[in-house]
Amino acid sequence: MKRAIFPGSFDPITLGHYDIIKRAVKLFDEVIVAIGINAEKKYMFSLEERMQFIKDAFANEAKVTVVSYEGLTVDFCKKNNVKFILRGLRNPADFEFEKAIAHTNRDLAPIETVFLLTAANTSYISSSIVRDVIRNHGDYTKLVPNSVRVK
Ligand code: ADP
Repeated sequence: MKRAIFPGSFDPITLGHYDIIKRAVKLFDEVIVAIGINAEKKYMFSLEERMQFIKDAFANEAKVTVVSYEGLTVDFCKKNNVKFILRGLRNPADFEFEKAIAHTNRDLAPIETVFLLTAANTSYISSSIVRDVIRNHGDYTKLVPNSVRVK
Protein backbone atom coordinates (compact mmCIF):
# COMPACT_ATOMS: atom_id res chain seq x y z
CA MET A 1 0.00 0.00 0.00
CA LYS A 2 1.50 3.30 -1.13
CA ARG A 3 0.82 5.96 1.44
CA ALA A 4 1.85 9.60 1.31
CA ILE A 5 1.71 12.26 3.97
CA PHE A 6 0.99 15.84 2.92
CA PRO A 7 2.20 17.87 5.90
CA GLY A 8 1.46 21.54 6.45
CA SER A 9 -0.29 24.17 8.51
CA PHE A 10 -3.33 24.51 6.22
CA ASP A 11 -4.32 27.80 7.89
CA PRO A 12 -6.59 27.54 5.94
CA ILE A 13 -6.50 24.95 3.13
CA THR A 14 -6.43 26.77 -0.25
CA LEU A 15 -7.26 25.80 -3.82
CA GLY A 16 -3.50 25.30 -4.27
CA HIS A 17 -3.42 22.60 -1.58
CA TYR A 18 -6.68 21.18 -2.94
CA ASP A 19 -5.19 20.79 -6.42
CA ILE A 20 -2.09 19.01 -5.07
CA ILE A 21 -4.20 16.58 -2.99
CA LYS A 22 -6.57 15.82 -5.89
CA ARG A 23 -3.65 14.97 -8.14
CA ALA A 24 -1.86 12.95 -5.45
CA VAL A 25 -4.91 10.73 -5.03
CA LYS A 26 -4.17 9.38 -8.51
CA LEU A 27 -0.61 8.45 -7.50
CA PHE A 28 -1.08 6.95 -4.02
CA ASP A 29 -3.43 4.50 -2.32
CA GLU A 30 -3.84 6.85 0.63
CA VAL A 31 -3.07 10.55 1.08
CA ILE A 32 -2.80 11.57 4.71
CA VAL A 33 -3.22 15.31 5.06
CA ALA A 34 -1.37 15.98 8.30
CA ILE A 35 -1.58 19.23 10.21
CA GLY A 36 1.62 19.78 12.14
CA ILE A 37 1.15 21.22 15.59
CA ASN A 38 3.68 23.94 16.34
CA ALA A 39 3.22 25.44 19.80
CA GLU A 40 5.19 28.54 18.82
CA LYS A 41 3.05 29.44 15.81
CA LYS A 42 -0.07 31.62 15.98
CA TYR A 43 -2.90 30.43 13.76
CA MET A 44 -5.96 32.22 12.41
CA PHE A 45 -8.06 29.03 12.52
CA SER A 46 -8.12 26.50 15.36
CA LEU A 47 -6.80 23.00 14.74
CA GLU A 48 -10.38 21.68 14.79
CA GLU A 49 -11.51 24.22 12.19
CA ARG A 50 -8.55 23.51 9.92
CA MET A 51 -9.16 19.76 10.13
CA GLN A 52 -12.88 20.17 9.44
CA PHE A 53 -12.29 22.38 6.38
CA ILE A 54 -10.12 19.63 4.86
CA LYS A 55 -12.45 16.77 5.88
CA ASP A 56 -15.43 18.56 4.34
CA ALA A 57 -13.53 19.39 1.14
CA PHE A 58 -12.71 15.69 0.66
CA ALA A 59 -15.86 14.16 2.12
CA ASN A 60 -16.37 12.18 -1.09
CA GLU A 61 -12.77 11.07 -1.42
CA ALA A 62 -12.20 7.84 0.53
CA LYS A 63 -8.43 7.90 -0.10
CA VAL A 64 -7.91 11.15 1.80
CA THR A 65 -7.57 11.10 5.57
CA VAL A 66 -6.92 14.05 7.86
CA VAL A 67 -4.83 13.89 11.03
CA SER A 68 -2.80 16.17 13.27
CA TYR A 69 0.64 15.35 14.60
CA GLU A 70 3.39 16.65 16.80
CA GLY A 71 7.10 16.20 16.31
CA LEU A 72 9.10 15.30 13.24
CA THR A 73 7.32 14.34 10.03
CA VAL A 74 9.74 11.42 9.56
CA ASP A 75 8.81 10.05 12.98
CA PHE A 76 5.14 10.17 12.00
CA CYS A 77 6.08 8.30 8.80
CA LYS A 78 8.00 5.59 10.67
CA LYS A 79 5.18 5.05 13.16
CA ASN A 80 2.49 4.87 10.49
CA ASN A 81 4.36 3.03 7.76
CA VAL A 82 4.31 6.00 5.39
CA LYS A 83 7.03 5.92 2.72
CA PHE A 84 6.39 9.19 0.89
CA ILE A 85 6.23 12.84 1.88
CA LEU A 86 4.26 14.99 -0.54
CA ARG A 87 5.01 18.68 -1.04
CA GLY A 88 3.84 21.30 -3.50
CA LEU A 89 6.18 23.62 -5.39
CA ARG A 90 5.09 27.06 -6.51
CA ASN A 91 8.30 28.91 -7.27
CA PRO A 92 12.10 28.92 -6.83
CA ALA A 93 11.79 30.09 -3.22
CA ASP A 94 9.62 27.04 -2.42
CA PHE A 95 12.19 24.84 -4.17
CA GLU A 96 15.17 26.11 -2.17
CA PHE A 97 13.29 25.78 1.11
CA GLU A 98 11.86 22.35 0.29
CA LYS A 99 15.22 21.04 -0.95
CA ALA A 100 16.85 21.64 2.42
CA ILE A 101 13.97 19.98 4.28
CA ALA A 102 13.89 17.00 1.90
CA HIS A 103 17.66 16.44 2.22
CA THR A 104 17.42 16.64 6.00
CA ASN A 105 14.54 14.18 6.06
CA ARG A 106 16.49 11.77 3.87
CA ASP A 107 19.37 11.94 6.36
CA LEU A 108 16.93 11.06 9.11
CA ALA A 109 15.00 8.24 7.43
CA PRO A 110 14.73 6.39 4.10
CA ILE A 111 11.63 8.29 3.05
CA GLU A 112 11.22 9.87 -0.38
CA THR A 113 9.83 13.36 -0.79
CA VAL A 114 7.67 13.67 -3.89
CA PHE A 115 7.13 17.16 -5.31
CA LEU A 116 4.17 18.14 -7.42
CA LEU A 117 4.36 21.35 -9.38
CA THR A 118 1.46 23.64 -8.67
CA ALA A 119 -1.25 24.14 -11.28
CA ALA A 120 -0.68 27.42 -13.15
CA ASN A 121 -4.02 28.87 -12.04
CA THR A 122 -3.37 28.31 -8.31
CA SER A 123 0.37 28.97 -8.18
CA TYR A 124 -0.04 32.45 -6.69
CA ILE A 125 -2.26 31.32 -3.82
CA SER A 126 -0.88 31.04 -0.31
CA SER A 127 -2.57 30.63 3.06
CA SER A 128 -0.91 33.84 4.26
CA ILE A 129 -2.45 35.87 1.42
CA VAL A 130 -5.84 34.25 2.09
CA ARG A 131 -5.54 35.26 5.78
CA ASP A 132 -4.73 38.82 4.73
CA VAL A 133 -7.77 38.97 2.46
CA ILE A 134 -9.97 37.60 5.28
CA ARG A 135 -8.58 40.08 7.81
CA ASN A 136 -9.36 42.93 5.44
CA HIS A 137 -12.86 41.68 4.62
CA GLY A 138 -12.09 40.85 0.99
CA ASP A 139 -13.67 38.05 -1.05
CA TYR A 140 -11.55 35.07 -0.10
CA THR A 141 -14.03 32.52 -1.46
CA LYS A 142 -12.31 32.37 -4.87
CA LEU A 143 -9.08 31.21 -3.24
CA VAL A 144 -10.29 28.35 -1.05
CA PRO A 145 -12.54 25.28 -1.29
CA ASN A 146 -16.23 25.87 -0.48
CA SER A 147 -15.76 24.18 2.88
CA VAL A 148 -13.69 27.13 4.15
CA ARG A 149 -16.04 29.74 5.54
CA VAL A 150 -15.42 32.40 8.14
CA LYS A 151 -18.07 32.65 10.83
P1 ADP B 1 3.81 24.99 5.74
O1 ADP B 1 3.55 25.60 7.08
O2 ADP B 1 4.48 23.66 5.79
O3 ADP B 1 4.43 25.92 4.72
P2 ADP B 1 1.43 25.18 4.14
O4 ADP B 1 0.07 24.79 4.60
O5 ADP B 1 1.63 26.62 3.84
O6 ADP B 1 2.36 24.62 5.26
O7 ADP B 1 1.84 24.34 2.86
C1 ADP B 1 1.83 22.95 2.81
C2 ADP B 1 2.34 22.47 1.45
O8 ADP B 1 1.50 22.96 0.42
C3 ADP B 1 3.74 22.94 1.08
O9 ADP B 1 4.38 21.90 0.36
C4 ADP B 1 3.50 24.10 0.16
O10 ADP B 1 4.58 24.29 -0.74
C5 ADP B 1 2.27 23.60 -0.56
N1 ADP B 1 1.49 24.70 -1.15
C6 ADP B 1 1.06 25.81 -0.53
N2 ADP B 1 0.36 26.61 -1.39
C7 ADP B 1 0.36 25.96 -2.58
C8 ADP B 1 -0.16 26.26 -3.89
N3 ADP B 1 -0.82 27.39 -4.14
N4 ADP B 1 0.05 25.36 -4.86
C9 ADP B 1 0.72 24.22 -4.61
N5 ADP B 1 1.26 23.89 -3.43
C10 ADP B 1 1.08 24.74 -2.41
